[in-house]
Amino acid sequence: EQFADNHFIRTIIEDDLKSGKHTKIHTRFPPEPNGYLHIGHAKSICLNFGLAYVYDGLCNLRFDDTNPEKENQEYVDSIKEDVQWLGFKWADEPRYASDYFDQLFDFAVGLIQDGKAYVDDLTLEEMREYRGTLTEAGKNSPYRDRTIEENLDLFNRMKNGEFPDGSKTLRLKIDMASGNLNMRDPVIYRIRRAHHHNTGDKWCIYPMYDYTHCISDAIENITHSLCTLEFEAHRPLYDWVLDNIPIQSHPRQYEFSRLELLYSITSKRKLNQMVSENHVSGWDDPRMPTISGMRRRGYTPEGLRLFAKRVGISKSENVVDMSVLEGAIREELENSAPRLMAVLNPLKVTLTNFEQGKTASRSADFHPNHPEMGSREIPISQTIYIEHDDFAEIPPKGWKRLTLGGEVRLRHGYVIKCDEVIKDENGQPIELKCSIDHDTLGKNPEGRKVKGVIHWVSAEHAAPINVRLYDRLFTVERPDTVRGEDGEYVPFTHFLNPESKKEITALAESVVNDLPPESRWQFERIGYFVTDRKDHKQGQTPIFNKTVGLKDSWQA
Ligand code: ATP
Ligand code: MG
Ligand code: MG
Repeated sequence: EQFADNHFIRTIIEDDLKSGKHTKIHTRFPPEPNGYLHIGHAKSICLNFGLAYVYDGLCNLRFDDTNPEKENQEYVDSIKEDVQWLGFKWADEPRYASDYFDQLFDFAVGLIQDGKAYVDDLTLEEMREYRGTLTEAGKNSPYRDRTIEENLDLFNRMKNGEFPDGSKTLRLKIDMASGNLNMRDPVIYRIRRAHHHNTGDKWCIYPMYDYTHCISDAIENITHSLCTLEFEAHRPLYDWVLDNIPIQSHPRQYEFSRLELLYSITSKRKLNQMVSENHVSGWDDPRMPTISGMRRRGYTPEGLRLFAKRVGISKSENVVDMSVLEGAIREELENSAPRLMAVLNPLKVTLTNFEQGKTASRSADFHPNHPEMGSREIPISQTIYIEHDDFAEIPPKGWKRLTLGGEVRLRHGYVIKCDEVIKDENGQPIELKCSIDHDTLGKNPEGRKVKGVIHWVSAEHAAPINVRLYDRLFTVERPDTVRGEDGEYVPFTHFLNPESKKEITALAESVVNDLPPESRWQFERIGYFVTDRKDHKQGQTPIFNKTVGLKDSWQA
């Protein structure tokens, strides 16, 4: 069972199946194609598609495309790709709210005929004044009592393009004194001459979200319409619309809490700003919390699904530390990524007693628990490289790595001893002279224990690689909630980490020369890395992105 269990929505579904209210459940994931999907959407995708999977039902992918200015085909395509990459299949073809524009229009005409909708001439600003507040009832619009005939005529003329943008709206006639502001005669159509990615220039009036969403759900015979908590107060309107139009099906809306990730941002609008202001290289920049960014970073669908399962589904606040996300990714990669050795910050080591022909190479499996991943030879030569950090001339307490006069084991190789340190004019080590204990390949040395094991590469055999190292994108936990002394929000871009990306060259075992893009590896003792999906090209210097370190770096 790979999806979040025992949450209240599952209880509701199980009750509905038991009571016979539904024989099959049908959910939907309804993104607006106004940006790329992010980690919050991943939670919603895993919930909606996961429930359909677990209860043998169906899940639709529906584009909620009622704001033509902000939407486009690139976003539609990226959303389809991301959902599939996460491992899910939608029922039939993707749906579009815009497929229902004719039906939505007809239902609106019906509402007018029933005296339940009217054309209003108030401006947006006037409407806001008439709306009232939480503590004060609203006022009826002076246009509220237009006759049905007049409303039908005006609405048709709105559709036919006889009025300028924004000059008229169609509103539901509900209750201007309702305690719920959403019920105070909500606007359901506005005039907007905008080109639509699906319907082109056919329409100059567009339906509003609240009106469109419930009807789209009903047309598709959705049984459980799951959304985030900010729509709780919209539920009475959802039900009102379905109760007042001639449609059989009446899906039920249930709300759960939005996922928020610390040191990150989960808002398409703000992520869009990051892209348009060039703070990142694009929506799929490996630092972005978008699904495509995380993919490029090397995260796996399995790891993201594990994360979604762990954060769970509830109505309480769902603010999650980055270490939870990285922990899930790391845990999944531990068993799925083969391993190799790479040295990111090389220190030259000369093996003084190396003997061609006598000093043997060794074959090693790519994964200690998965022999089916294959193996490779690990050749050695007179010169090798180790990490600078694995040598300390004056070792701190508890040091298990290499030190002057000390011994260490080379991973998959011999025990070596450091006999001499060569330094530059600043006193920094630039080369070590070491001797090999030739009797230690695959066995312990006689009469003494060598605890430390370090990774290394052979100078003669290693391949140069480019490595992109990433750090947190923001320097504060909640970059979009910080207020300045004046009480105003500080722009979240103020908290961008200037050191979130670093590119270095490094040395790795030569297997890196034959990798396709998106090949995920553990660099032993360092972390997980992936060949870049876009920039890595076979036959050129390999380009790796750091996915995540082996240890949690989020603890202070
Ligand atoms: P954004 O503010 O980032 O644009 P949205 O909710 O407007 O988010 P939609 O494209 O309308 O974006 O979202 C599609 C679905 O994904 C909705 O059902 C929404 O509730 C869900 N969703 C969006 N963000 C989150 C989140 N942070 N956590 C959980 N679900 C989310
Ligand atoms: Mg939305
Ligand atoms: Mg939005």
